[in-house]
Amino acid sequence: MTKPITRRNTCRLCESKNLELGLKLAPTPIGDAYIPREGLTKPQNCYPVELFLCKNCGLSQLLDILNPEDVYCDYIYKTSDSLGLVTHFKNSVNTILQKIRPDKNSLVVDIGSNDGSFLKFFKERSMRVLGVDPAREIANEATRNGIETLPTFFDGELASKIKKDYGTAQIITINNAMANIDDVGSLVEGVKSILGNDGVFIFETGYFVDLIQKLVFDNIYHEHLCYFTVNTLKHFFDSIEMELVDVERIQTKGGSIRCIVQLSQGSRTVSPSVNELIKLEEDLKIHEISKIKEFGEKLNDIKKELLKTLNDLKEKGKTIAGYGASVGVTTVLYNFELGEGLLDYIVDDNPIRQNLFSPGLHIPVLSSDSLYEKNPDYVVILAWQYSKPIIAKHEEYLKKGGHFINFLPKIEVI
Ligand SMILES: [Zn+2]
Repeated sequence: MTKPITRRNTCRLCESKNLELGLKLAPTPIGDAYIPREGLTKPQNCYPVELFLCKNCGLSQLLDILNPEDVYCDYIYKTSDSLGLVTHFKNSVNTILQKIRPDKNSLVVDIGSNDGSFLKFFKERSMRVLGVDPAREIANEATRNGIETLPTFFDGELASKIKKDYGTAQIITINNAMANIDDVGSLVEGVKSILGNDGVFIFETGYFVDLIQKLVFDNIYHEHLCYFTVNTLKHFFDSIEMELVDVERIQTKGGSIRCIVQLSQGSRTVSPSVNELIKLEEDLKIHEISKIKEFGEKLNDIKKELLKTLNDLKEKGKTIAGYGASVGVTTVLYNFELGEGLLDYIVDDNPIRQNLFSPGLHIPVLSSDSLYEKNPDYVVILAWQYSKPIIAKHEEYLKKGGHFINFLPKIEVI
């Protein structure tokens, strides 16, 4: 049997062993492991969530790696379920096509393609498309829906097979999965091997600057192994004869970047955005351990204030629910210690998550309609990044005398 967790002792981008612990978050179970009632008797182990800084190249990263088979092969969430993500992908494909102007009928390969939502937009613009995703059910469904998807992990062997069966690719994409891969080096070698001479590798990934500045600590969980900056990526690609030619900041997932990379002899010129962002990162001292420690202190202050607010309400006999049942919410629940009888239940809009129990803490997840049946006095918005649409959707609950509690950017009772 494979071990559930392994710990590496070198940096993922530069292999240095000069790593320093910057932030020790609360250990959690697999963040997405919401379980049905019959699973409650099985223990859910907690694993460390510790952010280390590489003192050589500046990359912040988790060193503990959960067995990917446990995390991804039974993955059930679809892109098309995620609020606003499909619209984002449509815009993203338009931007990419404008910037790259690929030949019609050339090949686009999307790694971690999920239900094919992203590739569909390339297919509509007369490109050949191929998805790769280890979540078997979702991959097979995408193929049935006309987006051919190989139901497996992407590695060097698969790269050779793709090159042999489909030819070289003009565009290879990875959305929100680049940070989830332990062996970034061999992933990118695989990408490089199927890229045509003038091909580009494009990925969207969380931006560490946004994470630090907006305190998006709920993006730190086991699946997210790397916390990229433009500077760390530029040096990494330089070291493997590739070139980061364009970076654009985008709003998804609490703040991300879309990076375009070519082979080092490629024809594209480097956009000024690359050096502008590197300058911004230097000014912010984003690669210094003090920055991460300061982030941890701010988080601790918010936790104390939130717990005080909730405990005061509890003492007055008020009922409190939570809103949102995602992987990031597991990080919130554990780090803010909201498990100890503070939240009676959580509500969520997504039917897939309803009637399940939160990972480890086993807080029940109900439909968001139950706010109107159960009328909790207060609802803490755990999915704080979606606070605005959640409040807008539930004006009725507020009118009936209910209250929402936000905790970021500051504690606010509405
Ligand atoms: Zn490094």
